[in-house]
Amino acid sequence: MGKGGMSRGNSEEEEENMAAWLLGVNNLKIQPFKLPPLGPHDARIRMKAVGICGSDVHYLKEMKLADFVVKEPMVIGHECAGIIEEVGAEVKNLVPGDRVAVEPGISCWRCNLCKEGRYNLCTEMKFFATPPVHGSLANQIVHPADLCFKLPDNVTLEEGAMCEPLSVGVHACRRANIGPETNVLVMGAGPIGLVTLLAARAFGSPRIVIVDVDDYRLSVAKELGADEAVKVSTDMKDVAAEIEQIKKAMGDGVDVSFDCAGFNKTMTTALGATSSGGKVCLVGMGHSIMTVPLTPAAVREIDVIGIFRYKNTWPLCIEFLRSGKIDVKPLITHRYGFSQKEVEEAFETSAHGGKTIKVMFNL
Ligand SMILES: [Zn+2]
Ligand SMILES: [Zn+2]
Repeated sequence: MGKGGMSRGNSEEEEENMAAWLLGVNNLKIQPFKLPPLGPHDARIRMKAVGICGSDVHYLKEMKLADFVVKEPMVIGHECAGIIEEVGAEVKNLVPGDRVAVEPGISCWRCNLCKEGRYNLCTEMKFFATPPVHGSLANQIVHPADLCFKLPDNVTLEEGAMCEPLSVGVHACRRANIGPETNVLVMGAGPIGLVTLLAARAFGSPRIVIVDVDDYRLSVAKELGADEAVKVSTDMKDVAAEIEQIKKAMGDGVDVSFDCAGFNKTMTTALGATSSGGKVCLVGMGHSIMTVPLTPAAVREIDVIGIFRYKNTWPLCIEFLRSGKIDVKPLITHRYGFSQKEVEEAFETSAHGGKTIKVMFNL
């Protein structure tokens, strides 16, 4: 038990903490994971639900993502919720037994970006499963208590884990000022496109059109509340015709477009489909460098907005889930336990795409 803190028992001494370690390309192994000591402001959390993110799969397949390279074995996973086992002496907001959703990123709280409240842009950020920082697909983790958010009784731990992807949609909607007068176009109906759709609706958007190349994903988007779904190709020469289709499907102007795919073609489409004076928010990162018709969009005063992760989103996500304004449960398509075999299977399922949306571990 931590000095002066509160604990549910001595389980840390009785059991060996295990985690899913990324050891190399396509090589994930469940191995012991020694927890750091519990600081006065930390909580020790028993993980109960951990989702697989596109970025986790990317690290498994390539050992890198953008500028981040996995050079040493790293524990994977960052979309998580669990139960508090122990809290440090200074922790006031939590007690053992509390069910919490966990925000993954620890920022420095000293730099100007942190002080301005834009802590998601902190250059000292320590973020789960972004090398060299370990992630949270483990029996237990230690994390700052201020990044653990208590779940109401009617919100499940799986829904708590979904606060992480949902936060991306919420942050994007805040950045783009979505409200009851904003018609929204969402490019891409993958997990991030779908949470952006759900967030835009919760922010009050009256009309949402979603676009994808896949019929199944579009049908899911319709079930989740998209007003219209437009199927597109991956061929650049179809852009002009598809922009017309999108405008027709909207019936009115597109005020804000979210590009949740982030390819040359999706961004070109978003820039062309958005009404003069509107905004295009780039959420997905399919291509790291793009060639897009920016000048024609600039002369129509279209604002291009970038986003990086999220900030201060957990309380709002939890409120959307508690009130029923957002239901993320239909996004969870696959569930696995925490054994070596199931971890491998789960990541393969997630990598395959198709009818898979969100793969969740129950620990
Ligand atoms: Zn994620
Ligand atoms: Zn900082």
